[in-house]
Amino acid sequence: MENVVRDEQSMEEEATLVVHMYIDGQWVEGAAGETRDIVNPANGRTIATAVEGTAEDAGRAIQAAKRAFYTTWWDTPAIERAKLLFDVARKLEERGDEFAKTETLNNGKPLREAIFDVYDTISCFKYYAGLATKPHGQTYEVPDPQQAMVVREPIGVCGQIVPWNYPLMMAAWKLAPALAAGNTVVFKPSELTPLSAVKLFEIFEEVGFPRGVVNLVLGAGATVGQEIAASHDVDKVAFTGGTATGRKIMEASLGNLKKVSLELGGKSPNVVFADADFDTAVDYALFGIFANQGQVCSAGSRLLLEESIHDAFIEALIKKAKTIQVGPGLDQRSQMGPLISEAHMEKVLRYIEIGKQEGATLVHGGKRITEGKLKDGYFVEPTIFTNTRPDMRIVQEEIFGPVLAIQTFKSEEEAIHLANDTIYGLAGAVFTNDVSRAFRVVKRIRAGITWINSYHPTYNEAPWGGYKQSGHGRELGTFGYEAYTEVKQINNNLKVEPIGWFD
Ligand code: NDP
Repeated sequence: MENVVRDEQSMEEEATLVVHMYIDGQWVEGAAGETRDIVNPANGRTIATAVEGTAEDAGRAIQAAKRAFYTTWWDTPAIERAKLLFDVARKLEERGDEFAKTETLNNGKPLREAIFDVYDTISCFKYYAGLATKPHGQTYEVPDPQQAMVVREPIGVCGQIVPWNYPLMMAAWKLAPALAAGNTVVFKPSELTPLSAVKLFEIFEEVGFPRGVVNLVLGAGATVGQEIAASHDVDKVAFTGGTATGRKIMEASLGNLKKVSLELGGKSPNVVFADADFDTAVDYALFGIFANQGQVCSAGSRLLLEESIHDAFIEALIKKAKTIQVGPGLDQRSQMGPLISEAHMEKVLRYIEIGKQEGATLVHGGKRITEGKLKDGYFVEPTIFTNTRPDMRIVQEEIFGPVLAIQTFKSEEEAIHLANDTIYGLAGAVFTNDVSRAFRVVKRIRAGITWINSYHPTYNEAPWGGYKQSGHGRELGTFGYEAYTEVKQINNNLKVEPIGWFD
């Protein structure tokens, strides 16, 4: 992939576009005729105008998806679905550079992270394209003359709602498995970051998905998202976002008891024992919390340090944190970009104030950056708190920004207790050179995704999702595929004659 950054201004001038929704095979305006400005968080300037969908638009998309499911798509052979998804991956490869820049411009993340997201997106489409044609059923040996088998069938119309932190990657994680398994979809990106999804749907159109199979509805969660979650014609809703929103979606889904999968927030522990490789642990502690500006559901937002290395570790952490280059994502020197929006930045800054008021010690960062080129963007310094208590809000609540809360432990038992002491259970890591301890601790961390001596690696092949209030169900891998299927038992009688039960 070409990795050249044109200057931001020229991209913005180019981006005077109005982006539309894609419903029933057509690019359309919203029913209310309204629009919304899409903003570059690095400087607060408008980069595009998006048509604003309404509940009525979501309803039209749902009906289109239902028609398409029962007319064309459920009869479309897996090999054809696979071909379309491979074609999507190929087109993404051709336009990868453009997608990465769009993602950075709209979301703010450093370009190197956006490039990674595009690669992940491409491999996600390839993975599920491949999986579509693999064996999925089972047969059972039951008493003669019966024959029993299980087949997996698509669920039907899937509503998919994603957040702004990984707009393109989240779209792939949702769309690729759903389409591979034979569902039709109504997809809603965050109102803040629709641009890469619009480009992805351009590709869907180009490769020739039948009308109504893929639908893109733009607009607010409270209207469009709510309609998708509540509609009785949606058979499954898949959501990634905050835990409070997840709860609303679950409530809205009760009307028709649709299937629900939820990928929610976290406050994940990164546990470092004194015997860990010191430099590796410092490096991953920073990566764990400051990648994507901390706007990651699985961020290592709580660093648990064994008491004997506490001071030396914090000293090394601060020394390295000072070198992190904060700047616009399109500037190749930038290692951390802006937060997604002014409102989100204000929320993160409020949490920093709460941390100070609660009595934690702010040892690094803590402020919005208001100087020079960064003054109009939503930039917050990488921030580190020590001397926290387990009951503090900055230890318990998801901040979703570049704010690290450090905790201390004396024993393995205490480390495990602290690691599990929140309502969340998405991810967790342990750093130690003692293999037995590593497995002992990881097995007792109540979380769906864990790492030993690393943080953050994520694979399309492996399941993603959380324990406790971090979610319901799993995405990715074969688990993620199965989550888009119904299981049907088929029993076949090989001896067709009356059984005479009532003779
Ligand atoms: P939300 O959970 O509100 O947004 C995620 C998606 O849900 C967006 O597409 C949003 O639409 C949509 N949505 C919002 N309300 C509803 C609703 N009532 N019914 C259906 N869909 C809805 O995240 P926010 O952007 O508001 O962030 C709030 C907090 O959530 C963050 O500060 C962070 O703590 C957490 N979060 C966690 C994420 C994760 O991956 N775990 C991702 C994003 C946020 P729209 O944006 O258009 O309103």
